[in-house]
Amino acid sequence: MKLVVATHNPHKVAELGRILEPLLPGIELIAYDGPEPVEDGATFEANALIKARAAYEHTGLAAIADDSGIAADALGGDPGIRSARYAGTGNDRDNLELLLRNLHGESNRAAQFLCAAAYVDAGTELVETGIWQGAVLEGPRGDGGFGYDPIFQPEGEARSAAELSADEKDALSHRRRAFTALAGALGRLT
Ligand code: IMP
Repeated sequence: MKLVVATHNPHKVAELGRILEPLLPGIELIAYDGPEPVEDGATFEANALIKARAAYEHTGLAAIADDSGIAADALGGDPGIRSARYAGTGNDRDNLELLLRNLHGESNRAAQFLCAAAYVDAGTELVETGIWQGAVLEGPRGDGGFGYDPIFQPEGEARSAAELSADEKDALSHRRRAFTALAGALGRLT
């Protein structure tokens, strides 16, 4: 089975390969290199479907996509779907620092990483979500992972997500959970 991955990020293609290969043996993932759609959906699910539809329409191949971010309870779920552009600079470190500033002095540190995983082909549209519960730390720790990982402490963990190995993060993450659910939904179709 060939699937186009609607992302220009080679790390995401590799990460999704690691997650999906054991679930859908023999799967071949192809990185999408067409135009990027405007992600103007109101939810992670809507944006994941927008990306997967664009890749399907451009290539004619079955496509998968994800949309993800972090939601802090004390901020009413912000930055949420705006996670990638929170600080307005397109820079992961600026986003992380803005989230720390907005939670400064706040005792409720509860937060979740959220991921919507979508699949689109000629006759099918599927979308599943995954949640990774945790808390926002007072400052960054560790240099693995990406994005908000250095300030996210997963529930039941003493370390930040940036202090976990790639395998440890893959086993727990919101992306793993969303794509495991998506692979299950795909498996039930065939
Ligand atoms: P996108 O789904 O690639 O657009 O990611 C949205 C934003 O959420 C990214 O810019 C990251 O900052 C953040 N994000 C999504 N997943 C993760 C993760 O696993 N760790 C850290 N940050 C993440």
